[in-house]
Amino acid sequence: MDFGATICKPVSPLCGSCVFKKYCQAFRQDKIAAYPVKEKKIRVKKRWFHFLVLTYKGKIAIRQRTEKDIWQELYEFPNLESGKPLTTGALLKEARQKKWLPSVVKESTSISPWYKQQLTHQLIHGQFIRISLQKKPEIPGLLWLSEKSWSNMPSRAYSGSTWKPYKIAI
Ligand code: SF4
Repeated sequence: MDFGATICKPVSPLCGSCVFKKYCQAFRQDKIAAYPVKEKKIRVKKRWFHFLVLTYKGKIAIRQRTEKDIWQELYEFPNLESGKPLTTGALLKEARQKKWLPSVVKESTSISPWYKQQLTHQLIHGQFIRISLQKKPEIPGLLWLSEKSWSNMPSRAYSGSTWKPYKIAI
């Protein structure tokens, strides 16, 4: 007999005919309605980060994150966040509007697949768009480091070790 399905049901348990009622603390304390305890459903926020891996004369640009969140003060590539994945065209357009990129990107551009990181309340998606520049962009707070030295900086989870560029046409 399935006790949970026939006697101690989640709704309207048959306590009157239950052989455990003498020992059941919920019954003895008149707290039947409080059980089973419903677990709060965690709402997971989905976030998409488009990381711009900007290179100029062999140096790579990173900056310290100032936003007040779990990554504050860590170093990261300049990035644009959106509520959904952006196409490369839309991303470059937004970056140009913010004056993060010159109007024309002549050099090679490559893009990684999407990486995912599951946190308790967030599902982070990260994609890396690598762009070689002929002129330094005017992004405040940028540090230009050699690829060897930036990988030693305390940074967000995504690092050079996961970087697998895929060529794209833009
Ligand atoms: S007495 Fe306790 S164990 Fe028995 S049916 Fe009621 S709640 Fe379930």
